[in-house]
Amino acid sequence: MGIFEYAPAPESRAIANLKDHYRPFINGEFVDGSGEPLKTINPATEEVLAEVGTASVSDVDTAVKAARKAYNTVWSKMPGSERAKYLFRIARLIQERSRELAVLESLDNGKPIKESRDSDVPTAAAHFFYHAGWADKLDYAGYGPNPRPLGVAGQIIPWNFPLLMLAWKIAPALATGNTVVLKPAETTPLTALVFAEICQQAELPPGVVNILPGAGDIGASLVEHSDVDKIAFTGSTDVGKLIQRQVAGTAKKLTLELGGKAANVVFDDAPLDQAIEGIVNGIFFNQGHVCCAGSRLLVQESVAAEVLEKLQYRVSTLRIGDPLDKNTDIGAINSAEQLAKIQGLVESGDAEGAERWTSPCPVPDRGFFFAPTVFANVQQSMRIAREEIFGPVLSVLTFRTPEEAVAKANNTPYGLSAGIWTEKGSRILWMANQLRAGVVWANTFNRFDPAAPFGGYQESGFGREGGRTGLEAYLNV
Ligand code: NDP
Repeated sequence: MGIFEYAPAPESRAIANLKDHYRPFINGEFVDGSGEPLKTINPATEEVLAEVGTASVSDVDTAVKAARKAYNTVWSKMPGSERAKYLFRIARLIQERSRELAVLESLDNGKPIKESRDSDVPTAAAHFFYHAGWADKLDYAGYGPNPRPLGVAGQIIPWNFPLLMLAWKIAPALATGNTVVLKPAETTPLTALVFAEICQQAELPPGVVNILPGAGDIGASLVEHSDVDKIAFTGSTDVGKLIQRQVAGTAKKLTLELGGKAANVVFDDAPLDQAIEGIVNGIFFNQGHVCCAGSRLLVQESVAAEVLEKLQYRVSTLRIGDPLDKNTDIGAINSAEQLAKIQGLVESGDAEGAERWTSPCPVPDRGFFFAPTVFANVQQSMRIAREEIFGPVLSVLTFRTPEEAVAKANNTPYGLSAGIWTEKGSRILWMANQLRAGVVWANTFNRFDPAAPFGGYQESGFGREGGRTGLEAYLNV
């Protein structure tokens, strides 16, 4: 069967209300940061989208002071039922401005509009709705009566889900009565600064949320600041380790959500067509820039050839190109650096003897793109089986018995997520108990809900985000 031809269906870029210049947000106002301005680009075209003012170390201090004052004088004293009203307002404003946020996110990050529109932005709103519901019920969260907030939270987020990671961090912090200084990633600061406008629209008291665009050194000085009570970080394991060292010996609380190398395990009794969709979603969603991506496919030997054939057919139907086109399945890689990292790891796969198959789909000649790629005959010792590629590259390994599947799935320094595909409920429960992963999906993959805690083991970090358990990260309990 041939692949359908689709006419272009681009979303209008005008919806993003792109400005020439964006500024840091401190104490309820947009201010001229005293850092060196950065230019954020559209990774699909390499054109400059906007200039963004950045924070300096002294701006970090000003923002922390504003957050401390807001914490002491307003936010920690406000009844939970009042805080909830602000969170509900923010959630509704995210919904109201959802098209603008979705287009802006796709422009700045490179992700397909259908993902920012149907996944990132609605899930960000859902996190605020969910946590608004907790704000006046903290006494019943299981942490004893009147659980207290921690104070000022320093939050550092990556570029793969800019608005969604902001929501994961800010919503629980505010619901529990903390104030926030957040640093977005250098390559994707725009939706965080529109979120700052939303805070103004919601009439959030000044200083409760502060947003500081800047490079890694601004993240580091936020971590170092002596008046910050809690650090929440999502990003690479290397930077996570650095932060843990920095925080050691201080009274700061820390949660780290780091990398992953998830096993997606397919047994021979699995509904294979359904599994193929889950495998594709697991690794090609968001160009594979997903910490919990199902980047290692473990498939039972008896169905390996069939799965590989079906998978190649399905992957060859994915459309790669303009992130703003509603038919696009795979958008742009977020930066030239990330593209070079993916290329380097793919070359190591070739050199170590894995069998590479790359989709023959047309790839745009401008911008940072990488065609979906599947490696067969992967051995556990290869770099592509051990390191986080963070791109649209799948490594396929095989197994014979459930015990072998567990041993291989757990043979990783990470432990963030895993998937199991089988029709046997008992096997799902047995496997889920054996797998050292914070999240285990059964006959599905990449499902997110604000009520479900998310987080890892080992080098994937510690602490949970979301759900009742996630509140603990922001409470003095
Ligand atoms: P980083 O961990 O460097 O970036 C995450 C955030 O931390 C960014 O806001 C970054 O700022 C900031 N940061 C950088 N250095 C420091 C520091 N010393 N102290 C405090 N904050 C700091 O990830 P990269 O963007 O460099 O990506 C590298 C690799 O990490 C990827 O290839 C991928 O494998 C993995 N990764 C994993 C993610 C996950 O969700 N688990 C998310 C992102 C990346 P700035 O943007 O200015 O560098």
